[in-house]
Amino acid sequence: MSQIYQRVALIGLGLIASSMYWSIKRSGVVGEVVGYARSAKTRETARRIGLCDRVYDSASEAVETADLVVLCVPVGVMGDLVAEIAPSLKPGATLSDVGSVKRAVIDAVMPHVPDGVEFVPAHPLAGTEHSGPESGFANLFDNRWCLIVPTENSSKQAVDALHRLWLAMGSNVDFMDADHHDRVLAVTSHTPHLIAYTMVGVADDLGRVTDSEVIKYSAAGFRDFTRIAASDPTMWRDVFLTNKEATLEILGRFTEELFALQRAIRTEDGDHLHAYFTRTREIRRGIIEAGQDTDAPNFGRGDTS
Ligand code: NAP
Repeated sequence: MSQIYQRVALIGLGLIASSMYWSIKRSGVVGEVVGYARSAKTRETARRIGLCDRVYDSASEAVETADLVVLCVPVGVMGDLVAEIAPSLKPGATLSDVGSVKRAVIDAVMPHVPDGVEFVPAHPLAGTEHSGPESGFANLFDNRWCLIVPTENSSKQAVDALHRLWLAMGSNVDFMDADHHDRVLAVTSHTPHLIAYTMVGVADDLGRVTDSEVIKYSAAGFRDFTRIAASDPTMWRDVFLTNKEATLEILGRFTEELFALQRAIRTEDGDHLHAYFTRTREIRRGIIEAGQDTDAPNFGRGDTS
């Protein structure tokens, strides 16, 4: 495949950035991939494991000659970060991000984007509960969706180049506007994470999570909740604070449904429960047919114990 960018700078070197690095290297479509991380510890780890062709101690230096700069930090810090690096961005460069929320990121970043630089936000729908520079792997994005959310500041040329990069990293690519993205993600990712955090919290309040009985006898359901609830606290705090409206709306609907199911159990309305579970079972089948998960035990994710 021909080269898409000469130099890409990854700002923040955690799960997503490290996966991007290995994936870009696998694809061979970028000349050089450099990186920056806030802490000396992360930078040292990156240098030790060969993550990035060069690791810089300052974000401004890392972006200076980059054709594409990708923000791979928690969404709550993206605005301040762009304010800091803006004077160093190369004219003609594209700025992008991988944040899980789009409207708040666009609102925070856009005011700082200098003339001559284009902002093309994106969100790869792929991840694990692990974080940090050693958690990434080259095939994280294979056959997963990456949603590109062009702004009024994104030219077709800049969007096309980013599109080709995500395809080269193994993703399927789709386009969405920011508000729609945030509503869809509130349903498919953000609210489910909140429910998992709550379920594990409730079990902990009952004093049973660390009790060996719960772990020993927990079926995939609860174990999967604990896996999701192990996701990075900073990232998820920022997701809920920045996708507040959409998450609260979906949470309201969820609560109504939960009350309806609660009533069905209390009134022993088996027909209601059966019809509901039949409908949700079909949704699971649809996800498998769409190739977004496998039918293997443990949801095809291997040992989650
Ligand atoms: P991660 O593994 O926790 O890495 C986060 C990186 O951001 C680290 O390099 C960290 O630096 C840096 N960072 C944290 N706070 C910072 C601050 N205040 N200033 C500057 N740098 C800071 O996170 P990740 O999972 O890669 O997530 C990165 C982005 O991807 C987030 O916006 C998230 O919403 C998005 N995303 C995540 C997933 C997922 O499942 N994890 C999926 C799709 C998109 P240090 O290591 O030096 O602390």
